[in-house]
Amino acid sequence: MSAKIIDGKKISESLRLSISEAVKNRKEGTRAPGLAVIIVGNNPASRIYVNNKKKACEMCGFYSVEYALDENAEEKELLELIERLNKDEKIDGILCQLPLPKQIDENKVIDAIAPEKDVDGFSPVNTGNLLSGKPCFAPCTPAGVVEMLKYEGIEIAGKHCVIVGRSNIVGKPAALLMLRENATVTVCHSRTKNLAEEVRRADIVIAAIGKAGFITADMIKEGAVVVDVGINRLENGKVTGDVDFDAVREKASYITPVPGGVGPMTITMLMKNTLESYNRK
Ligand code: NDP
Repeated sequence: MSAKIIDGKKISESLRLSISEAVKNRKEGTRAPGLAVIIVGNNPASRIYVNNKKKACEMCGFYSVEYALDENAEEKELLELIERLNKDEKIDGILCQLPLPKQIDENKVIDAIAPEKDVDGFSPVNTGNLLSGKPCFAPCTPAGVVEMLKYEGIEIAGKHCVIVGRSNIVGKPAALLMLRENATVTVCHSRTKNLAEEVRRADIVIAAIGKAGFITADMIKEGAVVVDVGINRLENGKVTGDVDFDAVREKASYITPVPGGVGPMTITMLMKNTLESYNRK
């Protein structure tokens, strides 16, 4: 068997098109959804992410505004900016690109964003609502994973989903989202015993580890669905996922590639959350 490749780029394009249609068809004379993106310092990866987010905003017809703060910016300056944006009626979503320079406490910054504008879904209110099954903005990467599975018509309810990784931005929220979809969920991490055995029992594997080629074909049950969240840059500059793609592809029924899988979905879910925030008003 050779798995069907889940094309995250294609799914993203189709979702962005429907978002831009919704924005175009808004009530005449009303403002477009607005996203504020804050970047602090000169991290090259952060710059690429922020530029991609701005491009996505343009594609979707959103109003977007960028605030670039100096590498040495004080925490107070950033918190005051967020306070202003919390009150800004043109802004539906506020995103502060992480990581932040060390003089700034990331938790304080995340806490400062009004929950109704926290389109990244990292604030304690959204995290709590996700845990208790209430409406919330879910973190974009795991939300993108669920969206891809649904787009492909892959059944989740009753399936055994094994997630490798338990970070606050991917693994843990992925577990909660898959539970919400009625999967039976196992979460593995660096202290898991017999990890290969756990993964072999999965109907759906979500790999979010950050180690190139960590998930090998012998860990995969014949016909399993394999979602690769990992982004690893190899010494030769190539970007690869956490899954040994070529070998796993021969056993899985569906697989996401890296690049072109989960990556493009993350920004699209940010657009979706921003539109939802706008629609709630
Ligand atoms: P973290 O480093 O925060 O978490 C990695 C997780 O993997 C941890 O829970 C860790 O376990 C677990 N892990 C590490 N080594 C092992 C091991 N040998 N065996 C079992 N588990 C292990 O990473 P993130 O969750 O932030 O990101 C994961 C990957 O996803 C990265 O490659 C990242 O670049 C990518 N990513 C991709 C995004 C996208 O848009 N596609 C967005 C965000 C991340 P423990 O908790 O025990 O330490």
